[in-house]
Amino acid sequence: MLSYQHAYHAGNFADVHKHLTLYAVTDYLLRKESAVTYVDTHAGRGLYPLSGQESQRLQEYREGIWPLWQQPKSSAPLLGAWKEVLRSAQPDAATLTHYPGSPWWMSNVLREQDKLRLFELHPGEHKELNAQVLSPNAQRVFGDGLVGLTDMLPVRTPRLCVLIDPSYERKVEYQEVAETVVHALEKVRHGVILIWYPLLPAGHHHALLDTLKARGVRKIWRSELLLRAPAEQVHGMYGSGMLVINPPWGLDQQLAAAMAEITPLLGSSSRYKADWWVQE
Ligand code: SAM
Repeated sequence: MLSYQHAYHAGNFADVHKHLTLYAVTDYLLRKESAVTYVDTHAGRGLYPLSGQESQRLQEYREGIWPLWQQPKSSAPLLGAWKEVLRSAQPDAATLTHYPGSPWWMSNVLREQDKLRLFELHPGEHKELNAQVLSPNAQRVFGDGLVGLTDMLPVRTPRLCVLIDPSYERKVEYQEVAETVVHALEKVRHGVILIWYPLLPAGHHHALLDTLKARGVRKIWRSELLLRAPAEQVHGMYGSGMLVINPPWGLDQQLAAAMAEITPLLGSSSRYKADWWVQE
């Protein structure tokens, strides 16, 4: 039984970290003409009105996209470009009223030759996703995203880009994600795979990272955005982690410049770090 609903968290610091990284990756992929199949294994609703009762309950966007939106100018090119696209998601470009989820960000970059498959397993969330206006090349599937990804590989397009963003309601998901990725890379060796994970005091994400390394996956770039130091947090998420397997060249520098602007806006304890978890 799935209980997680992303609307309670939309636009929080983890979403900023995740969607900025996703945007940066897709921006690189757009530089070549050859077609891309995009897969979002855990899609959610796709677009979140920040005035909705779920978003208003915790107002996590106030510690995420809100302070960033208030900044009139961004000097990091990636951040400036990302905010322009975010602006285009608003009914009134001057006011932040909606926060777009990963299906929106991915649908937004689709060209005629590209495809997008969006998996969502929660019936209510899938229904909401179905109601979104997305590219005609976006296919929405009611089903398990990890199984769905495995079943659809290899793809017909020369390139593949996957976002894996589970809610990790079950601890075994860390392991399931790792096994799915190992299998996917056996079928599509150069696929670009992004994996989001929470940084929790219990450190569950080590199961994911350690399994990928132990199973011989190469070229894993890791980036983490911490709101607080681990020692300061007893419960709940203190940071957001992203792995990018087979990252485009130059991604690390672009994100570092953008994050240098973002972290001071998230509070004095906030910091960003990135490194290779496994090199080539
Ligand atoms: N990727 C979204 C975004 O960035 O906007 C947020 C996704 S949210 C963290 C996780 C979503 O995965 C939830 O909507 C949940 O219902 C869905 N979900 C949970 N288990 C799933 C599974 N096995 N397959 C597909 N979707 C699943």
